[in-house]
Amino acid sequence: MATRIKQLPDYLVNRIAAGEVVERPASALKELIENSIDAKATKIIVELLEGGIKQIKISDNGEGIFQDDIAIAINRHTTSKISSEDDLYQIKTLGFRGEGLASIASVSRFMLSSKVTDYNHGYKINSNFGIVSEVIPAALNDGTIIEVNDLYHSIPARKKFLKTETTEYSHCKAIFERLALSYCDIFFEFYNNGKMIYRLSNETLLKRIENIFGENYSSNYFEINEISNKELSISGYVYHPSYSSNSKIIQHFYINGRFVKDRVIQNAIKQGFSGVLHHEHQPQYILFLKINPLDIDVNVHPSKSEVRFKDTGQIHSFISGTIRKALSQNIYISPTKDYKDVYIADKKDSYVSSYDTLKRSFPKLNDSLANTSLDTNLFNLDNIDNESKSEINPSLGFAIAHLLNIYILAQTNDGLIIVDTHAAHERILLEKLKQQLEQASTIASQQLLLPIIINIPEVLHETILIHKESLLVFGFEIDLLGENQLIIRAVPILLSNANFEKLVLAVLNELSQYGNSNIIMEHREKILSTIACHNAIRANDSLSIPEMNAILRDMEITQRANYCNHGRPTWFKITMSELNAMFMRGK
Ligand code: ADP
Ligand code: MG
Repeated sequence: MATRIKQLPDYLVNRIAAGEVVERPASALKELIENSIDAKATKIIVELLEGGIKQIKISDNGEGIFQDDIAIAINRHTTSKISSEDDLYQIKTLGFRGEGLASIASVSRFMLSSKVTDYNHGYKINSNFGIVSEVIPAALNDGTIIEVNDLYHSIPARKKFLKTETTEYSHCKAIFERLALSYCDIFFEFYNNGKMIYRLSNETLLKRIENIFGENYSSNYFEINEISNKELSISGYVYHPSYSSNSKIIQHFYINGRFVKDRVIQNAIKQGFSGVLHHEHQPQYILFLKINPLDIDVNVHPSKSEVRFKDTGQIHSFISGTIRKALSQNIYISPTKDYKDVYIADKKDSYVSSYDTLKRSFPKLNDSLANTSLDTNLFNLDNIDNESKSEINPSLGFAIAHLLNIYILAQTNDGLIIVDTHAAHERILLEKLKQQLEQASTIASQQLLLPIIINIPEVLHETILIHKESLLVFGFEIDLLGENQLIIRAVPILLSNANFEKLVLAVLNELSQYGNSNIIMEHREKILSTIACHNAIRANDSLSIPEMNAILRDMEITQRANYCNHGRPTWFKITMSELNAMFMRGK
């Protein structure tokens, strides 16, 4: 016999929702800090007991809640942040679903007290695992105080999912850090068991990064600041792993202030780092995307950490392109005019090596590669006196020795530079090869004698129609052949040995998921990088001082010269102050 259907009581409905919204103390903390931020607080104090399991207490100086609204605020689907369906498609606040307080109040001993700015009295309400008390007067300053005690205590089935105090604490700390990074103009304090962990005053993003992640992250960065248009921009910092000794991996991405974890974005960032990242390394970043709220949907999941974009391809290429550009910066070149005059001015048309030794070390270079070898004439130091040398002050200094024929040692005004010769030269060659290839406007392709026919899943049909032209630019000529087949008629010459079936399918899959693909470029770069590797100066090749200086000058003006083609660093610097510290001079 069928079972009768009944309406669930409110407290049970709230507990069901609570499972999604407040999985653990850290997720309750997130809802509460976000509420304080939405209430325009400029000061937020977070106090935890036992990593948030025993208590989470938040005090803010925000707008507060009216007496009549206090009881409403802890009901389900009650919010001051949206009121119509139109609002739902242009969310400007962190909250909007009206289920945070209701969920938390149904699974804890909960207390909320609040006083609206300029009102004389404050009020408070309690909820004992969903059993709500009357609103009564309370004495407090402007703003709101919320206490969440014994989360899930009377609900053993959920409480058993909570981990140790240490684990819950570290989740809370991570949530706090994410939010604090995104709102540098808010003063925050963060305590656990009475111990102050953070006090963060209104400060710059870089200063806040330093206070949270340490100096390493506020000194070894690539700055990102790119405005596509009034509706789309990105700012923040990316980090090359070989320059941060920190073992933790920082991957923070925000959209309109909200922390998100999204696979389109992760893929775009990975593409931005391609060619400079060791395959075992993870990219590190703290990035803020600003976008017209009409162009994204944040209402994908109750936790709001996933998003959908109106134009995925545009966002993807904006992010990856911006990062690629930032990571390709040259090593700092001294702004001194003389330096440029001496070294760079006519470099463009004078890459002709006069050094037989170097020619001999590039037996595999064909004619088109010959002009990628080094012009040591330009860097002949005999013509420069010591005074101008110190005035010129190039960032990688002047060569003094070739250590065991492996490392170039160079002296700068303030220390010692050590260069891995092979790694650096490999990068210089690769960038030159890439430049040559880019100068040819399209990529040369070659018709196949026997066209290749591939079976394709139906989902890729539309992708092929949309992206046919862009594949042509890469040298691929493809066409649909009936319902579920694809014909490849021509392929890029440079890739003539690749597995085209696999390559084309991989490209199409990326295009359909992210609206953008870097696979062909990556493949091409791999081939060029093999050529560069084989032609670069090897360990044990001996070099003269002018040859080494030529490499240093070349590095300074080569994109991505900080890393070799495999993502390893090409040079390090030891400053005089570091040396002095080692020898305890001046102590
Ligand atoms: P949402 O944030 O999605 O609107 P919540 O359940 O988290 O839903 O909060 C309900 C309402 O309570 C909010 O819309 C807001 O008006 C009010 N509120 C919650 N926390 C605060 C606070 N710290 N300061 C002022 N108002 C608050
Ligand atoms: Mg909320």
